[in-house]
Amino acid sequence: MVEELPAFRNYNFMMKNKENPSDLMMSDALLTQDELSLRESLKKFVAKKITPLLQEAHRKEEFPKHLVKELGEMGLFGITLKDYGNMNSLSYGLAMQELEKADSAIRSFCSVQNSLVMWPIEEFGSEEQKSRFLPKLATGEFIGCFGLTESDAGSDPVNMKTRVKKVAGGGYELSGSKMWITNGHDAQVGIIWAKNEEQEIVGVLIEKGMKGFTSSKIQGKFSLRISSTAELSFDKVLIPEENILPKAKGIKSPLRCLNEARFGIACGVIGAAETVFHCALDYAKEREIFGKKLASFQLAQAKLVEMSQEISKAKLLAIQLGRLKEQKKLSPIQVSLGKMNNCKMALEAARKARDLLGAYGIVDDFPVMRHLMNLETVNTYEGTEDIHRLIIGREITGHSAFY
Ligand SMILES: Cc1cc2nc3c(=O)[nH]c(=O)nc-3n(C[C@H](O)[C@H](O)[C@H](O)COP(=O)(O)OP(=O)(O)OC[C@H]3O[C@@H](n4cnc5c(N)ncnc54)[C@H](O)[C@@H]3O)c2cc1C
Repeated sequence: MVEELPAFRNYNFMMKNKENPSDLMMSDALLTQDELSLRESLKKFVAKKITPLLQEAHRKEEFPKHLVKELGEMGLFGITLKDYGNMNSLSYGLAMQELEKADSAIRSFCSVQNSLVMWPIEEFGSEEQKSRFLPKLATGEFIGCFGLTESDAGSDPVNMKTRVKKVAGGGYELSGSKMWITNGHDAQVGIIWAKNEEQEIVGVLIEKGMKGFTSSKIQGKFSLRISSTAELSFDKVLIPEENILPKAKGIKSPLRCLNEARFGIACGVIGAAETVFHCALDYAKEREIFGKKLASFQLAQAKLVEMSQEISKAKLLAIQLGRLKEQKKLSPIQVSLGKMNNCKMALEAARKARDLLGAYGIVDDFPVMRHLMNLETVNTYEGTEDIHRLIIGREITGHSAFY
């Protein structure tokens, strides 16, 4: 006799981790107590200080500058640097994740300050440069920016036109321009990548107020509206010798900075995906269509399951990236894989969530459309999805599709 199976509809839940359907593989079990505590304190900080101001900041296309000092007080600048946060890599990733639950622009601000400004000063700077800039960047007294992209050189930064040349009487002269620079209009200090007379890429520390240095904020963005993005121009700006990063040489130097930031992005976007997923799940459980809850329809469930499945996988990927990084075993290919996979995952989650919310998905009473628009940028900056595909393709085939 066939044993009677429990009726599926009464089979009320094998899922032990029911309280968190965006972590089906229970990846939290892989985190240390310190990592969990950091995430918990940031969760409270984000809920109290950041989430309430997002709708207005997004409408006004304005970065809430008063937050910068508070982010500094929370220890969010210089997180992994020995003399500052001194935390492990995954803690940095988890911090980026909590911030990006709110908005990719807030995470972008912290990514730039940490990975693209403080990290290169620590890595390539002189002792004098470190003591001049790092303490002020750590508290938020100084905002930093990173200028690599130009209007005609994005995916191909080696093609840059910005030049730095030695001048009689000492120092250098910087000429050219940079485009799409996060925090560029507000920054007190920026790392500008330029070619010298030997056609070698070098890093220059530019400071607000230097003669010939101007910036203009790019208006009218549909994406990352809360982030301040700028075009920078350098008209024969006189740069003292002590503002050249002594240990930065060649394209590898800015690419190493990008690798640091890409790791933070691979972790951060999971936060955006979780926000849109939970919003769509709550909505689908409440919304009644054809006399039934939206969540009870199979097509709606398919979308929610795919989001949950991909977020759960992305978390495991991010944790492994973090652990490899802590062991100094993380390769640029692995970072590319993480950035490409997790950005695509988050963008697709946001598109599905937007769809599930129907018309409500396009208004800013819900965070979904804002995240969706932001993630279009996040999928593009720091190496577009296809550029990462080509980087990995070059590695696994031995053929470069670039040149
Ligand atoms: C809001 C925002 C903030 C940013 N912040 C910064 C910053 O702080 N600092 C900074 O330096 N830059 C920043 N960027 C610039 C960003 O990194 C570049 O936009 C990005 O690298 C892509 O360059 P691009 O826009 O010139 O596109 P392009 O390089 O012109 O690419 C256009 C398209 O061509 C594709 N493509 C490129 N090469 C190939 C190829 N070989 N084969 C097939 N397809 C290819 C790309 O995938 C893309 O789809 C920011 C951008 C944005 C939007």
